[in-house]
Amino acid sequence: MTEALFRQDAYMQQATGRVVSHAERGVVLDRSLYYPNGGGQPGDRGALTWDGGSMSVINTLKGDGADIALVPEEGDALPPVGTQVMQSLDWGTRLRHMRMHTALHLLSVIIPLPVTGGQIGAQKSRLDFAMEEPPEDKQALEDALNALIARDLEVSERWITDKELDANPGLVKTMSVQPPKGAGKVRLVRIGTGDEQVDLQPCGGTHVRRTSEIGPVRFGKVEKKSRLNRRFNIHLVD
Ligand SMILES: [Zn+2]
Repeated sequence: MTEALFRQDAYMQQATGRVVSHAERGVVLDRSLYYPNGGGQPGDRGALTWDGGSMSVINTLKGDGADIALVPEEGDALPPVGTQVMQSLDWGTRLRHMRMHTALHLLSVIIPLPVTGGQIGAQKSRLDFAMEEPPEDKQALEDALNALIARDLEVSERWITDKELDANPGLVKTMSVQPPKGAGKVRLVRIGTGDEQVDLQPCGGTHVRRTSEIGPVRFGKVEKKSRLNRRFNIHLVD
């Protein structure tokens, strides 16, 4: 089982680690700075360096069980099992993923309909909603999203038991993605605190600390994906 450093501190950009195995999907360390592809958020990229070598990490995937596998650039030498390595993150891309990811939480606040799918990208991200009619005023939705971002709400987390989650099924907004369960506890991500709380939902991804870090966003196309589904695309302005 790989320790998930990105979950302890999403802002960590470098960390040491030790090679546990060379799995089919990639190199497994005892702890990972890199987020594995999942929940609509892409796997991280970066580089491992060690005494006498280096390896580019071109993607990060979930491995066996709770392992995290670092996909090497083709042709790169792998650090031998047992080697102490330094992990460095492609922080520019990750920070955009964190801004986008947090923006999608807020989009689900502005459009309070069931989410049927989603994908985060550094340039463009999207959420699909169970929405039959096109939005009446797209600009008003974009303005509302930017106003929420500008409120500079705190993003925090809280862990609850599987039982508590089962007792509160309303917490799960995404119909296509079941929250990570099974370990006995589930991580909830909360935006805003106290009377200012606007969102609380199970999520294992990486987020910014305050909504103002997202910066302004603009809407792209709203696409009709099926009779019951509409896709909202968003872009970061800078
Ligand atoms: Zn999230």
